[in-house]
Amino acid sequence: MTTAHGVQTLTHFIGGEMVEGTSGRYGSVYNPTTGEVIAKVPLASVEETRKAIDKAHAAFPKWRDTSVAKRAEVAIKFRNLLTANMDELIQIICTESGKTVEDARGEITRGIESVDLAIGAPHLVKGEYSVNVGGDINAYSAKYPLGVVAAISPFNFPIMVPLAQTSMAVTVGNAVVLKASERVPMTALYVSELWKKAGLPNGIWTVVNGDKDAVNEILENPKVQAVSFVGSTPVAKYIYETGAKYGKRVTALGGGKNNMVVMPDADLEQVANSFIGAAYGAASQRCMAISTLMPVGQETADRLVDILKVKIAALKVGAYTEADTDFGPVISQQSKEAILAAVDRGESEGAIVVCDGRELDIVKESKGFFVGPSLLDHVKPGMEIYEQEVFGPVRNVVRVASLDEAIQLINDHELGNGVTIFTNDGFAARKFTTEIDVGMVGVNVPIPIPVGYHNFAGFKGSRFGEGHMFGPDQARFFTKTKTVSERWMTTSTSTTSTFAFPSN
Ligand code: NAD
Repeated sequence: MTTAHGVQTLTHFIGGEMVEGTSGRYGSVYNPTTGEVIAKVPLASVEETRKAIDKAHAAFPKWRDTSVAKRAEVAIKFRNLLTANMDELIQIICTESGKTVEDARGEITRGIESVDLAIGAPHLVKGEYSVNVGGDINAYSAKYPLGVVAAISPFNFPIMVPLAQTSMAVTVGNAVVLKASERVPMTALYVSELWKKAGLPNGIWTVVNGDKDAVNEILENPKVQAVSFVGSTPVAKYIYETGAKYGKRVTALGGGKNNMVVMPDADLEQVANSFIGAAYGAASQRCMAISTLMPVGQETADRLVDILKVKIAALKVGAYTEADTDFGPVISQQSKEAILAAVDRGESEGAIVVCDGRELDIVKESKGFFVGPSLLDHVKPGMEIYEQEVFGPVRNVVRVASLDEAIQLINDHELGNGVTIFTNDGFAARKFTTEIDVGMVGVNVPIPIPVGYHNFAGFKGSRFGEGHMFGPDQARFFTKTKTVSERWMTTSTSTTSTFAFPSN
């Protein structure tokens, strides 16, 4: 990385080296807390992306032929380097994303869960063996790596999502090309150095920084076998359709509009505390953030909104450098403007703004991209504020009369990433988990993000394709199963030609 006038010029990571961009195109990386440009990120051309894929392709056969235990050993060293360099990683993540220190630490810890699972690759790629399936014939199924596989990641988890998308891909024997988010590229470059220090052979881990040009080359290049995408729903749909057109295996995770249903028997103080963290943590820039509170019954809604008004007013929006900050800025000025406009729109659609995040001093005066917490009550289906994902601290209250109404509304929504219910009624909880059409479901937990060894993905417009991020499904997604039938003949084994379809 070079430095000019205090603004770093970043690179790609190709063939085990930091490589300068040659396209002549650069994007700006901001420190969202100060609003300043801190780095220029090269945006790869089609040609640069192709060359990076070629290097990965050339490195693949040797890594494929390295024993799975040796690959796992590199991942163990990588894991140790992640924990040893936790403070440096936190600093980078906070600087380029604006997250609080504890939030960044949590993200790294959850990302390490994916590395832990990947270290278990020897177990997860074990095959199946059947003896004597025909005359002297044994059969086995074995998992083989795919070759060059790609990950395209979003800005909001600079390390957790890339680790979740790529760790297993590496240990099962693929060469990985990561197209990191151009808004948070410094974390991915730092992670590249750690892979190198861990002993990963050159070419097995590549970071191509860029935008649509790099992504389109990844989607079209015949050497890329699979694409794992995480980002917004319209882009996820595009990636899935285009990747499929070019014959690739694709999993594309999209956005969320996640609900918290509150039954009248729930402890509302506990619900309010859970809602506040799950709804506004990380300035609501989480695909699993709770967007909509759905209290069942007028009394539940009135009491809950009263409690929330007080708690939301006490939230501290500020810099990650201040210890008592609850959440920091959003990622960009453009994002800030879109989020503030969403409050205006919600109000004009008839929602009641009970907490107004537009009015905080820090929102009006700071050069950082701060947005205060808003809560809109009496939001209704059909309003844009209800239908669209708002990736910032504007949250809704939708009042429903019954659990059936809540389930119906949630199932009718285009997105189906996460959902949770708060209740002490086992029957209601069971009905909810059975009937709800959402990928990740919680009961009395604020955000139902599965641990790294369970599969993670939404339903409907929150996921295109069949794979998962996190979990054992990663080992399936990044391998292909070959089934071998074999017979070893002795000189006494007699064979004759048969023309009928073989049967046993
Ligand atoms: P985004 O869709 O704008 O960008 C994601 C990636 O796609 C980036 O690497 C970007 O460079 C690339 N990209 C953007 N536009 C493109 C285009 N037109 N053609 C090709 N590539 C393009 O998403 P974001 O703003 O970085 O991240 C926030 C979104 O990601 C939210 O919608 C959030 O819900 C979602 N998200 C989902 C999950 C999940 O697990 N479902 C997890 C994290 C974030």
